[in-house]
Amino acid sequence: MKDILTIYIDRLSGHKQETLSFTLEPSSLFDVEELGLFAENTISIQYQVYIASDFLIINAQIHTCTSLPCHICNRCLSQKINIPQFYFTQALEEIPHKVFSLKPIFREAILLQLPSMVECEGNCPERSAIKKYMKTEKASTASYHPFADL
Ligand SMILES: [Zn+2]
Repeated sequence: MKDILTIYIDRLSGHKQETLSFTLEPSSLFDVEELGLFAENTISIQYQVYIASDFLIINAQIHTCTSLPCHICNRCLSQKINIPQFYFTQALEEIPHKVFSLKPIFREAILLQLPSMVECEGNCPERSAIKKYMKTEKASTASYHPFADL
């Protein structure tokens, strides 16, 4: 089976451009500890790869869905991750043995899109139950605004 996440520079040099479209199981990109983020979701990737002068150019569209817990009630929420235009370049001379793995760059692209926290519909119904334990937002009105006079 062809390894769709590995680019062999020598094989690519003969072609103008290679386009691939596929669906991955999260386990092909992520470590065991990260797999919980994806539940049963798969990752759709389409990429074009080509060489322009001395650079490898990768252009990809990545779509997946994650399952993250609400930070208030811990209920699992699905969160769509859409990366319509992912662009990556790498100097050919910096690619050891002329073999380039797409796995770390796709993995990082998805992880960067993860929200730092999620909440049920932006306003968890259980928020009122814990309100009394949370800081009130009044404190921030008295804070220093360094750019207010610009
Ligand atoms: Zn919630």
